[in-house]
Amino acid sequence: MKTLKKNERLLVHVEDLTHEGAGVAKIDGYPLFIHGALPGEEVEIHVLKTLKNYGFAKLIEIKQASPYRVAAPCPVFETCGGCQMQHLSYEGQLAFKQKLVRDAVTRIGKLPDVPVHPVKGMDNPWRYRNKSQIPFGTEDGRTVAGFYATRSHHIVDTDICMIQTPEADAIMAALKTRLQELGIKPYEEETHQGMLRHLVVRKGRATGEVMVVLVTKKRKFPQVEAAIELIRTIVPEAVSIIQNVNPEKTNVIFGSETLTLWGKDIIEDRIGDVRFEISARSFYQINPEQTEVLYKQALDYADLSGDETVIDAYCGIGTISLFLAQKAKLVMGVEIVPQAIEDAKRNAELNGFTNTLFEAGPAEQVIPRWFKEGKVADVLVVDPPRKGCDPQLLGTILGQKPKRVVYVSCNPATLARDLRILEDGGYRTREVQPVDMFPQTTHVEAVAVLELAK
Ligand code: SAH
Repeated sequence: MKTLKKNERLLVHVEDLTHEGAGVAKIDGYPLFIHGALPGEEVEIHVLKTLKNYGFAKLIEIKQASPYRVAAPCPVFETCGGCQMQHLSYEGQLAFKQKLVRDAVTRIGKLPDVPVHPVKGMDNPWRYRNKSQIPFGTEDGRTVAGFYATRSHHIVDTDICMIQTPEADAIMAALKTRLQELGIKPYEEETHQGMLRHLVVRKGRATGEVMVVLVTKKRKFPQVEAAIELIRTIVPEAVSIIQNVNPEKTNVIFGSETLTLWGKDIIEDRIGDVRFEISARSFYQINPEQTEVLYKQALDYADLSGDETVIDAYCGIGTISLFLAQKAKLVMGVEIVPQAIEDAKRNAELNGFTNTLFEAGPAEQVIPRWFKEGKVADVLVVDPPRKGCDPQLLGTILGQKPKRVVYVSCNPATLARDLRILEDGGYRTREVQPVDMFPQTTHVEAVAVLELAK
């Protein structure tokens, strides 16, 4: 095998794309990861680093471009860590995401025959994020605001972000230019000096309501009234202006104290026919348009007639639970964060559901107890974090054997791993539907349906 050396320049053919969006070229079987390169391309590279089993190279020049390559429309795409895939056409992104899911299901799940459908994407894959969290800072005496560079706390200054709402752009830009005049100093992470730490903007997609949150180091800050006035002028859709106080030397965004400066404490949104109340700090899906697509798919796979008891494990604020409650006899949701369970209960009440029950705790402990108490499920829905389902929970499923399991996942690798465990325990995976919740990024969501083998 040819040994590659650092700083070597060579011409390579890019074969694949990693789940992080880097191009992969193989030199005598040795993989080199090339940031910015796409499959099918011939590129000139500069070797940056060689490790035992793989290396990294810098893209110098594209000799033959992929037909799926497009010019990234965002001016800070190269430096900002928010998006990874703007240089790939949307069609190419969807094909990439389908392949990621199919490869995981085949290789890790050992299920080459399970259909993995084409990804359900967005008609307009821009401006979809309903929440922006924008750090403020200073650079050479100037106020900067934008997003962090990949794996860093360096703020990439920008006036637009093409995946956030126009309202967030407008407030971000206006505050940046007017901050000095208002006498509000941007916070500096290194010295723990200054006042404005983050600007958070949330918008209800269905209602158009906007919430603006100023995260400040201290409770008292100058020119509060002028800041409120500025925000209301720039974005007349703002119905709630909130202050959150975070005096700590930390990179966690929110502190524990939240005050309403003007207007309402919450904004409202709807996903399908279900209403949600969103406060400054509550968890809520980032892309509600595609959340509706994903949860409709989950509901479709659950195939409910109205007589079923359904468990929604890892239920968060009950988004899926309330979707299911429209079609089920009873939905029982479990989630580890108590505040999220409070939100779930409030949202159930807001929508007038009387067939839901929520409990805070680890799913792997609460569900076995429910089963012991005779609260069994016909259908089980899981939507775990990236690490997948707890092995104990999978064991409980295999012990009680609900007739159907709907698995919503944000990580194809752990989805595939868990499908294999459930298959070995007697379930059959019918199909997998990926849904694009985060266009322009490498994130992939998928929903799988499993049934007990006859
Ligand atoms: N379905 C939810 C979001 C799920 S995200 C919604 O649409 O709102 C995964 C959730 O699992 C998170 O809310 C996280 O707090 C929760 N979680 C993580 N570990 C858990 C555990 N062991 N038991 C129950 N919930 C857990």
